[in-house]
Parts: sequence; C-alpha cells; structure tokens
Amino acid sequence: MNRSATTGEWDVNESVHIILPTSAGPLLAWAGRLPAAAAEGEGHGGYGILDPAELARAKAFTSEESRVEFVAGRVVQRRVVAELAGRKAAELRCAYTCNQCGADGDGAHGQPGYLFRGEPVPLRLSFSRCADWFLLVISQGSHGSGLGADLESAGNTTFDAFDDVALTSAERQHVASLPLAQRPRWRAETWARKEALVKATGAGLRRDPATIEAYPHQEPAVLENIAPHRLGLPADFAVGVAAVVNVAVHEPVLGAAGRARH
Ligand SMILES: [Zn+2]
Repeated sequence: MNRSATTGEWDVNESVHIILPTSAGPLLAWAGRLPAAAAEGEGHGGYGILDPAELARAKAFTSEESRVEFVAGRVVQRRVVAELAGRKAAELRCAYTCNQCGADGDGAHGQPGYLFRGEPVPLRLSFSRCADWFLLVISQGSHGSGLGADLESAGNTTFDAFDDVALTSAERQHVASLPLAQRPRWRAETWARKEALVKATGAGLRRDPATIEAYPHQEPAVLENIAPHRLGLPADFAVGVAAVVNVAVHEPVLGAAGRARH
C-alpha cells in the first residue's frame, strides 16, 4: 500500500480487503492509507477521473489537507467501484443522493452511487475517513441507503463530554463498569456502530446520538465491529458496519473481488 502512495497510482489489487459473510449477504470491506499523491497536481492523476461536481467540492475546501483527503478518498472509492463493475474509473459518473437536498443536490454528496452510461452501477457503498485512513464497504444492490460504515480512532473519544454527548444511559453505565484501559476502545467501537447505523438508515446525525442504542435488543440485519487488524488498520482504530436491508447475492461481486487478489 505504501508503495502506491508514492506513485499517485492507487492499486486496487494491492490494498487490503476482506469479505464479511453476513445475514444480509456478503459485504466487501476495503481499508488503508489514503494515497495522498492521487490528489497532487490538479488536472492530473486522480483529478482526471473525477466528475466536475466532485472537483467543485474539492475546490471549495479551505484546508489543503482536507482537500487532499477528499480527492484521494474519491479516487480510491471510484477505482474500487470500477474494478468491481468491470469499467474504467473515468467512465463512471457520480450519482450521490442526499436526503436533505433531494433533486437540488449536486450528485456528489450524500449516499454514494455511480452511473455507467446513464445506468446505475448496482452496488451499495459506504465510505469513511479518519485522519488519512479510509474504510470502504460495498455490497451488491441498487444504490441508496441500506449500508453504513464508520472508521473511528480511540483517541477521538477521550474528551470529557463524550459520554454525555454520545452514549445512552445504559451505555454510560456500562462504560463506567469497564477497567479504565478498556474504555477508549469501547467508546470508539460504540460510536462507530452508531455512525454506521445512522448512515445505513439514512438518518444522518439529525438524530441525537445519545438516544441511539449501539447494542439494540433487536438488531438490524448487520451491526458489528470489525477488528482493525483484519483490515490492516492500526490497533487504536474502531470499525463499525451496519446493513439494514436484505441484499441479493450475485456472483459477479465476489468473482471480481477474488480476481482482485491476483
Ligand atoms: Zn445535501
């Protein structure tokens, strides 16, 4: 992965990905370091494969670091989708859907999706960034909500008000019962589950996170944490994945992922 980061060419085949068998069908999860070089040299490299609406969003960042992370993330996501769909990355058009903007959206924010020659690419996607690391989870199915993924760092949950802002009363009680050393990881895993869940349900953060149970009695089809080492992520990361609808299982997705290992 590091090798590709120096060339600007992010290689799907070299990045870490796993297949998660779930009751909602197999989910593919990809993770790694964002290839910052993909976002260098405007008009070249990764920029060349993005849509005008994505480039407009990139330009709007006032922080160079944020702009680079945004572009690199879009490049990674598009290359993975292109590989799975058997298309060229530059041939895909982004077709994001935003619950709040509806038809007024720019097609480049909200729930990710792509078109190929006007037809939706039949993949559900959820993308998350934490510092310069990314997580991308994909399942077969028509794009839109239904799938959520979140990447968090345990270090981001250590501020004083975290428990009051982020946890339900049952969760606050539970974290207080844990040994001190285990609390940061538990908090990060719990937060990652909540974020994944609200992404999957399309609720966004309009819902107060302190009212969302990360460990509900009646779970959606999938709501789980993935151990960071399985995805080649540093040990202080937490990964949450949620899927709330049944997704059909079709061979092409797994077939493409299998080929991608060679
Ligand atoms: Zn919007």
